[in-house]
Amino acid sequence: MTLSYTPIAEIVDDIEARLSAVERISLFLDFDGTLVPIEADPRIPRPDQATVDTLKKLAGRQSLVTTIISGRAVEDLYSRIRVEGIIYAGNHGLEIFGRNLHFVEGVAWNRRGDLERLTDELSALLRPIEGTLVENKGLTASIHYRQAAPESLPGIQDLVRKTVARYDPMFLLTQGRKVLEIVPATNWNKGSAVQWINDQLGGQRVLSIYAGDDNTDERAFRTLPDAVTIKIGHLPETDARYRLPDPGALQELLLELTIASELRCCAEAGGEGCSERGELTDDGHQ
Ligand SMILES: [Mg+2]
Repeated sequence: MTLSYTPIAEIVDDIEARLSAVERISLFLDFDGTLVPIEADPRIPRPDQATVDTLKKLAGRQSLVTTIISGRAVEDLYSRIRVEGIIYAGNHGLEIFGRNLHFVEGVAWNRRGDLERLTDELSALLRPIEGTLVENKGLTASIHYRQAAPESLPGIQDLVRKTVARYDPMFLLTQGRKVLEIVPATNWNKGSAVQWINDQLGGQRVLSIYAGDDNTDERAFRTLPDAVTIKIGHLPETDARYRLPDPGALQELLLELTIASELRCCAEAGGEGCSERGELTDDGHQ
């Protein structure tokens, strides 16, 4: 099946056409597979300097709030990006920090002990299978098997499924891109997190832009039917409005967006420029 990707200019045109009617842009970016290419070893991905520079530019806009939303733990996410003035939503949105926001979902917090027992069990069971990695991220866990031999995959999945089932109904097992995710059974997901962040930021006329590559991002796409939603990568099914092939294409779009928001900023300032005006009070990561 051949997928057709959206020309970047078409997405930029859509955003620019809506800018005059909004008071703020709320930009949501997934991390792995969206902002950075996916690596076989999940410990490797870090944004390159150009991406960090773009994020810094976006973080300096008064009328634009950037959130990085990921399955990684918030501390892990922050340690890879280290840009102040943006919001970090970790563990699929179960924990949210930055720009004076501080949220941890209560059910997930209370199940940390159970999650630790579950991941200890899984680590022991999977240790003999080469190429697997059990990662306890505090509120959720990931079972990475990208480096495992293809013939061992059914066995890995079966073992994980049976172990998680013994903790029923506390945890759910979901399939990501070559990763199994163990999440506490709550009503919270990336879609709820996006809604919560927008509610906290307030404002009537907000344009949300959301880019993501994974199944978990689909919840957010559905939560934001009027938003500029962008699916990254080649998974065929999506509820996103647009589609880009890879993080490189998203990087191009983000650069265009920094220029568009700079122009908007200048227009608001009556052509005076906005380098000072656009600076945010840097409350940093909490
Ligand atoms: Mg992703």
